[in-house]
Amino acid sequence: MKILCVGRNYSEHIKELNNQENATPVIFMKPDSALLQRRLPFFIPKFSNEIHHELELVIKINKNGKNIAERFAHRYFDEITVGIDFTARDLQQKLKSKGLPWELSKGFDGSGPVGEFTAVHKLESLNNINFHLNIHGEIKQKGNSGDMIFSFAKIISYISEFITLKKGDLIFTGTPAGVGKVNQGDKLEAFIEDKKLLTVNIK
Ligand code: ZN
Repeated sequence: MKILCVGRNYSEHIKELNNQENATPVIFMKPDSALLQRRLPFFIPKFSNEIHHELELVIKINKNGKNIAERFAHRYFDEITVGIDFTARDLQQKLKSKGLPWELSKGFDGSGPVGEFTAVHKLESLNNINFHLNIHGEIKQKGNSGDMIFSFAKIISYISEFITLKKGDLIFTGTPAGVGKVNQGDKLEAFIEDKKLLTVNIK
């Protein structure tokens, strides 16, 4: 399986990092070694002093597809959860400033914890999914899928023009505003509506 990620998909987050909105989705990947086994802690890596949490909705592809039309894209996923796109922001800024790929700042081991999946049909509407992240019980990030610049369907359609999607692939769909640094001892809890789907302890 592979993990695809969308960058810059919420206007408020684009503003907080002083980035520009793009006409097409910004896509990057994490290797499968970025997945964090459930219930294992996240260890802050030695190469960074600024690991940021990016709370994101994550969909799981349920069948193979290439050149998927937007109107059929909903047939390619039936489960959703929340994940954290951990980002070594200091390293990413360094790479970005040199115009280099930011892979290492996003794809390091354990950088993509993913919650327990829930069936899409249990949600009222794909365009109105509330999700949020608590640290020590306090809300740090909250988003609504209706604020995504590129919808789930657009993301699936766009990626599949270039890369065949396969059953089991995961797509991180971008973070809303409120990204910030994590510290040793933090307890991150991520929710869709009021259902907790992911807990990550920072060591
Ligand atoms: Zn992200």
